[in-house]
Amino acid sequence: MKAMVLKEITRIHDNKKPGRKGAIMTSHSPLEFTDLPVPTPGPKDILIKISACGVCHTELDQIEGRIRAPRLPIVPGHQPVGIVEKIGENVTSFKKGDRAGATWIYSSCGKCSFCTNELENLCYDFKATGSHADGGYAEYMVISENYALNIPVDLGDLNHVAPLMCSGTVGYRSLMLTGMKNGKTLGLYGFGSAHHLVIQMAEYLYPASKRFVFARNPKERKLALDLGADWVGDIDERPLEKTDCAIDTTPVWRPVAYALENLKRGGRLVMNLIRKENYDRKYLLKFDYEKHLWMEKEIKTVANITRKDGLTFIELAKKIEMKPKITAYPLEVANQALLDLKVGKTPGSKILTI
Ligand SMILES: [Zn+2]
Ligand SMILES: [Zn+2]
Repeated sequence: MKAMVLKEITRIHDNKKPGRKGAIMTSHSPLEFTDLPVPTPGPKDILIKISACGVCHTELDQIEGRIRAPRLPIVPGHQPVGIVEKIGENVTSFKKGDRAGATWIYSSCGKCSFCTNELENLCYDFKATGSHADGGYAEYMVISENYALNIPVDLGDLNHVAPLMCSGTVGYRSLMLTGMKNGKTLGLYGFGSAHHLVIQMAEYLYPASKRFVFARNPKERKLALDLGADWVGDIDERPLEKTDCAIDTTPVWRPVAYALENLKRGGRLVMNLIRKENYDRKYLLKFDYEKHLWMEKEIKTVANITRKDGLTFIELAKKIEMKPKITAYPLEVANQALLDLKVGKTPGSKILTI
């Protein structure tokens, strides 16, 4: 099967000439188009023939080494959707021809106190799709039926379902963790793939709430307005009203300072990302206890998702008829998709078609 494979931690840049920057390779094409054997499903696994896979900012963190690679080489991609081609002998919840998808959670131990309390996202043995196990930048992948998602036909075409697997599911978890209630104001910092879905969820779940979007890129601010934002501005701009709840998806620190300053008393900021880049860490030194944290303001992070998040979110996406705005790239030009994601070329979600 054809696959895009990460073999070495690489700094992505937009110059076509590869080179070494210190100990790290720099390249505009960190993934290699490779032929791999089609994986064989174990007794509880399904083999998915992948139609599309979403491209996530986490792949940039993996490729550039901000997330430690559990193994290399690896097929990245944790938003694959497709058709079940083969099932293991003990599989009961899928059959050949079903539509299936995988999310960031590839497996967990199933026995620890987190796993037995519907918090398998926090399991010490949490394994991630496309990181611990080969993921969706390929024609096929295997995953246990316990961690795969059944994709109902009424969710629409698979290209539009792919970004829901991470941007949608983790976006949903982060929205739930804010403690939002109808009527409270919500601030969204960064307006990439996740937040262009979160704003649709918020409109449906909290119709009386105002939604403020803070984004650097004018194209993203325009998309936010099209999707019903009540106010849009740059990261350091201020709406007339502060927010009760906020979510930050940006890879840097500056928006965290602004988001905290902009929270009402008792407000909560949820940080939805795995790693921050460190080049603007100086903003942390400017943190002022009174301005940024006092009056019972909270910061919470979101880590991974649970199986229940995936199932609940799919039901919600069906009700909303959620439609991500997608830009599609063929599998073999995944490097271009990653580069475009890094420089913020087009708003919405990027997918690879396979
Ligand atoms: Zn992701
Ligand atoms: Zn566990």
